[in-house]
Amino acid sequence: MIDSAREQGLETEAVIGLEVHVELSTHSKMFCGCRNQFGAPPNSQVCPVCLGLPGALPVINGRAVEYLCKTGFALGCTVSPYSKFDRKNYFYPDMPKNYQISQYDMPLTTGGSVTLVSGRKVRLNRIHLEEDTGKNTHAGAAISRSEYTLIDYNRAGVPLMEIVSEPDIGSPQEAEQYLSELKGILSHIGVSDVKMHEGSLRCDANVSIRPVGTQRLGVKAEVKNMNSFRSVVRALSFEIERMRECTRVGQPIVQETRGWDESRGVTHSMRSKEQAHDYRYFPDPDLVPLSIDAALLERWRLELPELPDSKRARFAAEYGLSAYDAGVLTQEAGDAAFFEAVAKASGDAKQAANWLMGDVRKCLQLHGLTLSSSPMKPAHLAALIAMVKSGAIGGKAAKEVCDELVMHGRDPQDVVGERGLAQTSDASAVAVIVDAVVARNPESVTAYRGGKLKALDFLIGQAMRESRGKANVDVVRSRLQELLD
Ligand code: ADP
Ligand code: ZN
Ligand code: MG
Repeated sequence: MIDSAREQGLETEAVIGLEVHVELSTHSKMFCGCRNQFGAPPNSQVCPVCLGLPGALPVINGRAVEYLCKTGFALGCTVSPYSKFDRKNYFYPDMPKNYQISQYDMPLTTGGSVTLVSGRKVRLNRIHLEEDTGKNTHAGAAISRSEYTLIDYNRAGVPLMEIVSEPDIGSPQEAEQYLSELKGILSHIGVSDVKMHEGSLRCDANVSIRPVGTQRLGVKAEVKNMNSFRSVVRALSFEIERMRECTRVGQPIVQETRGWDESRGVTHSMRSKEQAHDYRYFPDPDLVPLSIDAALLERWRLELPELPDSKRARFAAEYGLSAYDAGVLTQEAGDAAFFEAVAKASGDAKQAANWLMGDVRKCLQLHGLTLSSSPMKPAHLAALIAMVKSGAIGGKAAKEVCDELVMHGRDPQDVVGERGLAQTSDASAVAVIVDAVVARNPESVTAYRGGKLKALDFLIGQAMRESRGKANVDVVRSRLQELLD
């Protein structure tokens, strides 16, 4: 397809800018005292303020301002001590006030950037603070059209930060890198639980194409409704291809908002620019402009924890991890802390990394768990590593024990004792078994001595079976070689 585009002189590149919404993990909502908590029974966390009842007055949540400023510092933004809140007016049932309190022309931060693993620097335009809307659920029996809509206002008024990038992203893969880098940074600062499937991290993707080598931006489409990194990549790839096809057949690209259909793998037009909203922004008269004390801003800046890029460098230097391993283990703050605890307790960082990225990860994925939702303790994983290294248990048993750690948070000593998984490394005990196996299989011994090296594997297998899997396979092998060579 690239080829035919090139033939027609239409070789194009993608231009992508992302608007990322992040729910802040404050205790209470943005402008009232209601709990900010995911998963509570519908409409159980509401009050006159977040329901927009007449006369109710909003009060700014200081913690949300702090979280946004810290994010700004972490991303190298200019954090403004002065800003204000505006009303963004539109009518939609998930918004009880018929306006959303947001920030229009004086966002809390401007500038800043996110550096991708590809090395590309994506500039940020702004980060502002606003409130989330309620959640509509279209329900009913009809297949193509819902019969009624349920509205849950628990989410209405939850602090929401919007991070707007410049159109500096060049491919769907880079969009994913951007999101994953951002997610890692936010997880380290601890301002959000950044879960795309629960909606605490959401992303609208703006995309256009232009002839390679040109600077002027093409007409963009804004794609919505993606709920995983994978859908962002798929939706953008589809959209770029759709735009290229338009160009190829001479159809104009129109500015519009398009929705991603996950099951069909296509985007469809939701609304065009002509129908775009006029939000009639104006300063919210119920809220005084925000003025943040310089000393407070400085304190927030100094309170920033170690961020993923310096942690990656430190993991590589301090623990001798590869760049890849260090990258994976610093994606999430909790995972990084878990790794460090296991590395310290076991004194073997390489093994700690191997287990966490290998068997532990596999088991977590199999059961839909994450390190933070698993009951496993770092000390127990360190103990398991020590048991394998000392030869107390074999590789197969270790995997079995690992599952018990991950799923039930058990102590490896208990599991090994209970299931009789301890391995025999005692040379004399192993020798008794091996000697008996050798005596019983003279033809294999002859074959081995005659150059058929595979016969050794057979003898090892026999000895392992004889010991019911409990003999240390290394001890078995060396005893056999001692006898046969
Ligand atoms: P709008 O006025 O539609 O809100 P903005 O200029 O505010 O558009 O930009 C919104 C987002 O769209 C930003 O992330 C920006 O980087 C991105 N964007 C703007 N123009 C383009 C374009 N032509 N192609 C791709 N992304 C774009
Ligand atoms: Zn409330
Ligand atoms: Mg805009």
